[in-house]
Amino acid sequence: MLTEPGALSVVSVPEPSCGPGEVLIRMRGTGLCGSDLAVHAGHRRPPRLPWILGHEGTGRIVGLGSAVSGLRTGQDVVIEPDYCCLTCAPCRAGRTSACDGRAAVGLTVPGLLSDYVVAPAAFVWPVAPRLPLEDLVCVEPATVARAAMRRSGIAPGQSCLVIGAGSQGLLLCQALVDHGVTVFVQEPNEARLDRACSLGATPLPPDTNKLPCLFETSGAPGVIEQGLRRLATPGTAVLIGMNTSPLGVSPRDLVAGQITLIGSMIYDHPVDFAQTVSALESRTPPRLGAVVSDGYALEDVQEAFTAAYTAAGKVWVDLS
Ligand SMILES: [Zn+2]
Ligand SMILES: [Zn+2]
Repeated sequence: MLTEPGALSVVSVPEPSCGPGEVLIRMRGTGLCGSDLAVHAGHRRPPRLPWILGHEGTGRIVGLGSAVSGLRTGQDVVIEPDYCCLTCAPCRAGRTSACDGRAAVGLTVPGLLSDYVVAPAAFVWPVAPRLPLEDLVCVEPATVARAAMRRSGIAPGQSCLVIGAGSQGLLLCQALVDHGVTVFVQEPNEARLDRACSLGATPLPPDTNKLPCLFETSGAPGVIEQGLRRLATPGTAVLIGMNTSPLGVSPRDLVAGQITLIGSMIYDHPVDFAQTVSALESRTPPRLGAVVSDGYALEDVQEAFTAAYTAAGKVWVDLS
C-alpha cells in the first residue's frame, strides 16, 4: 500500500469477498507503469491513503460469484482493469474508453498489487494455461499499444515515428513491427533505445524523410511539437503520453499540414482486449515478455518502484 507519496509498505488486509457477478483471483504478477508511478510520486492523487496500486495484473481464479458463468476456478486470467458501465451513450457506441462512470483499477478503485482481488466477471479474460508471467503482465499495456495502432489506421508497409521507448513505447514498437510497419524511434535513454532496436525499431536518423504517422508515448512537454515537424502532409499524430502543458502548435500548421490528431485513451471493451488475448494465444512471435526488465518479490516492492522510473523495459512484481 502507498502510505504517502513515495512510501510503500506491505500490510495485511482482509481477503476480499466475491459479489454475485464477481470473480476472486489469486494474483500472480502485476506490472508497473507510468500511471502507477504518477500516483507513487504524488503527481496524481488516489481517492484515499493508504492505497493499493497496480492495474496490469494476472492471476488464477480461486472463487466465483453465484451469478458467474463461463469461467471456472483454476483458470489463468488477465484483468481488464477499466470497468466501464456498458450502459451510457459512449459505451453503447463501443467507445467504452470515454465512459463517464468508468472505474479505473489502481486509480479510482483499489489496485492489483495484492495477493487477492475481486473483479467483475465481464472484465476477466481467461488465457491459455502455463503462459509465462512476463507475457501476461504485459497484456494490459500491450492492449493500450494495439488500441493506439488500431485507431491510427496505419497499414503494413507504411512507416512511422515512435517517440519514447519506455515500456509503453516498447510495446508499441513491437506491435507495429509485428504489423509490418517500419518503425523509427526517438528516445534519449541509450538502454531504452537499444531495447527498442532489439524489437525491430530503428533509431531516427537526423535526415529522415517526413513520415506519415507519429505515436507520442513519452508525455514529455515540448516533444510533440518536434514530432509534428517530422510529419508528412497529410499526417496523423497519435498521442498516448500525457502532460498538462499547453501544446505549442499553430492552427495554421495543423491546417496546412492536414494533421489528424488522435488522443488515444486506453482501449475499448471488449474488442481490444479480445484481440490482444487472441494474439497471445496464437503463440506467434513476438513474445510480449520481450519488453520485460526485472521481476521483484512483493517484499522488495519499494525497490521495484524505484527501478521502474529508469528501467529499460517493464518492471513487475512477482506475486506467485
Ligand atoms: Zn498501465
Ligand atoms: Zn459507460
